[in-house]
Amino acid sequence: MVDFFDLYQHQQIKQTHRLIEQTARTNESQRSDARHQMEVLHDRIDRLTLLCESMWQLVMEATGYSEEDLDARWGNLDLEDGEADGRRHKLPMSCNCGAMVHPSLAKCQYCGAKAPARAAFDRI
Ligand SMILES: [Zn+2]
Repeated sequence: MVDFFDLYQHQQIKQTHRLIEQTARTNESQRSDARHQMEVLHDRIDRLTLLCESMWQLVMEATGYSEEDLDARWGNLDLEDGEADGRRHKLPMSCNCGAMVHPSLAKCQYCGAKAPARAAFDRI
C-alpha cells in the first residue's frame, strides 16, 4: 500500500532542497556582483587619487603653495562641521522662513521654498 504521507513528505523535502540550492546560487551571484562593484569603486578611487595628486603638484608648481598650506586648509575645512574627523559633513542651511533645510533636500520641508544655493562640493 502506498503511504501518501511519506510521498508528500518526500516531495516537500525535494522542494526544500531545490529551494536551498537556488538560494545558494542567488547568494553566490550577489556576492560576485558586490565584489565586482567594490573592485570598480577601488579603481575609481585610485584614479581620482592620482588625478588629485597630479592637480596638486601642478598647483604647487604654479603657485608656490606647500604641503603645509594644504594641511592647514584641510584642517580648517575638516573643522567647519565642528568635528576634526577627517570628513566633511554637509551642514543644514537656513531657509528664509527660519527652518533648517537638510542638505539633501531641494526645497524647504516647511515652506516649500527652493533650498539655498550650495557650493559645488556641497552638491556632490
Ligand atoms: Zn522654509
